[in-house]
This record gives sequence, structure tokens and C-alpha cells, in this order.
Amino acid sequence: MDELTDEQITELRAQLEASLIEIEAGLEGASDRTATVDLDQPIGRLSRMDAMQQQEMAKEQMRRNRLRVAQIKQALTRFEDGEYGLCGQCEEPIGYKRLRARPEAPLCVECRSEIERR
Ligand SMILES: [Zn+2]
Repeated sequence: MDELTDEQITELRAQLEASLIEIEAGLEGASDRTATVDLDQPIGRLSRMDAMQQQEMAKEQMRRNRLRVAQIKQALTRFEDGEYGLCGQCEEPIGYKRLRARPEAPLCVECRSEIERR
């Protein structure tokens, strides 16, 4: 796998910074939404189940976004160390193609699938 060029690094970093802003803005909105569902309101059984389900989905989405924010922040610190784009496990270049799809990816494809097989 080839190491990243300077242009690719700049591009991926800009992409990470943009998605961090986007997700953090979304998280603020989402915590408002989960907070406003009041399950003690007499809104009827069906709509109550609906509201609970929506609340669960919003929570799950929030959990995923928090995880992604953590991964993005971690990826951003790796630019400072000059380690961005290298696998956290085997230290081989992750590859531009994979990073374009998931710029916050901490592992290369091989290490990632090895962990998933465990
Ligand atoms: Zn690896």
C-alpha cells in the first residue's frame, strides 16, 4: 500500500474537520430531541410505544455519533504526530482508497478484519 501524498493528507484532514463540526452540531440537536420525549405524558399506548422507539433510535444514533467523534478526534491528533494514515496495529499505510471512504479509520483492512474474526 502506498503512503499518502501531501495533497491527500490535506484533503483527508479537511474532510475530518468538516465531519467533526457536522456531527457535533448534530449531537447537540439530538440531545434536545431525546430530552423532549416525555414518557409520562398521557398520549395513548401506541404513540407512547412509538415515542419510546424513536427515543431508542435517537439514543443509538447518538451513541454511534459519539464514537465517531472520538475516532475523528483521535485521527486528528495523529496528523500532529505524523502518524496519520498508518495502521494503529501493524503500522503499515492504511491506503488512500480506504481512508477516502472512512478518513477516521484507525486500522488497515487486514487488521480490521482480523479483529472482526475474533
Ligand atoms: Zn494493520
